Amino acid sequence: MVNPFQNALNQLKRACQIGGLSKEIFARMEVPEREIRVAIPVLMDNGSTKIFEGYRVQYSNACGPYKGGIRFHQDTNMDEVRALAFWMTLKTAVAGIPIGGGKGGVTVDPKILSHGELEKLSRGWARALYRDLGPKIDVPAPDVNTTPEIMSWMVDEYEKLTGDKTKATFTGKPLNNGGSEGRDQATGLGGFIVFDALREKFNLPKNASVAVQGMGNVGGNAARIFAEHGYIVVAMSDSRVGIFNGNGLNPEAVEKYKREHGSLSGFPGAKAISNAELLMLEADVLMPAALENQITLENAKDVKAKAVLELANGPMTPEADDILFEKKITVIPDILANAGGVIVSFFEWDQNLKGEHWSEMEVHEKLKIILEREAMAVWKRAENLSTDLRRAAFVIALERIEAAQKAKHGAF
Ligand code: NAD
Repeated sequence: MVNPFQNALNQLKRACQIGGLSKEIFARMEVPEREIRVAIPVLMDNGSTKIFEGYRVQYSNACGPYKGGIRFHQDTNMDEVRALAFWMTLKTAVAGIPIGGGKGGVTVDPKILSHGELEKLSRGWARALYRDLGPKIDVPAPDVNTTPEIMSWMVDEYEKLTGDKTKATFTGKPLNNGGSEGRDQATGLGGFIVFDALREKFNLPKNASVAVQGMGNVGGNAARIFAEHGYIVVAMSDSRVGIFNGNGLNPEAVEKYKREHGSLSGFPGAKAISNAELLMLEADVLMPAALENQITLENAKDVKAKAVLELANGPMTPEADDILFEKKITVIPDILANAGGVIVSFFEWDQNLKGEHWSEMEVHEKLKIILEREAMAVWKRAENLSTDLRRAAFVIALERIEAAQKAKHGAF
């Protein structure tokens, strides 16, 4: 299995080689500022106590308080969390928002916990780490398998321990507990805004066909939003199986079927495909929206899409990047493509601190302004440097982080 943090460092090295960046920013970004590992005891329903391992990596606060999601997954470990915290640091800098980068997690398969056990684990994570969190210190959010309800438990636990009533220490909360309008669909919508801003650059029509891997918060919302705008969603998948229909699927009907049947198997009028096959489809746009390391040295040569919109974090290895670049397949990198989530999380934090509640239209307008501006900036930089969009996005982000660091300390 490819180590995601090693991939992240390779991406850093490759960007620093072309961008005229300083040696100092490279050295600074190779190492996170702080890593915390905690043991979280949970009294299980059967009366036993189980210890779960939890993490928080505070990668960089050069641009503002640490910020980043919490992942609950059986394969989550410190290397993965460190990589995700690194990418978050670059993502907030590409978005140009005054926020740093962090990430958290717990090694657990949440599907085998009862609702009560999940609540105890979530509250336990907040209890173990609350001294290191806070509206001006570190502001976590949801990621894979963590939901608005989980954020609600965590913010409640934080309030009990500290008395802080701003609710600004966690984002991605439910609307009735300090959440922002538009947060749920923000990552999928952000992906759409970025793609649509660049679409004409790579000569794709408004009704291009798209294949979406993963149908959680990000993939599910992206599929729905792309379909609503006239794109043809030909494939969707969950962790077990994918489905394909060349004439197009109705993402809402697929979601409903999955809710009712617990699986996509047997969805009427569609052919069952594996997740591996989904990545090789002849759709115009491929959208990995599940986990890391999906497109690698082994399968990159078989990718047939004209563009890849990286909605997941780290779905492609640097070796795969090179193969797709040679094949003239445009890759819109994760740190730009999925930045919508953290941008609206930043809006939520801002609203909590100011005691405001913005309308969904206001949130969407602000999101669109930022993402269209930064998508064009990344495109132009890639043209100027004659490089791919990932390296261009990295160069922009690293320049901003370096400038913020120097503005504070005069030097590194
Ligand atoms: P989620 O838990 O809501 O959904 C994950 C989806 O991936 C599920 O449909 C699951 O069935 C599927 N999946 C899991 N393993 C799979 C596999 N091996 N193959 C195919 N599908 C698989 O998570 P999410 O919040 O939608 O996050 C998805 C990705 O997007 C992650 O990489 C995450 O870091 C990234 N991301 C999320 C946000 C956000 O706001 N939630 C923001 C930016 C980036």
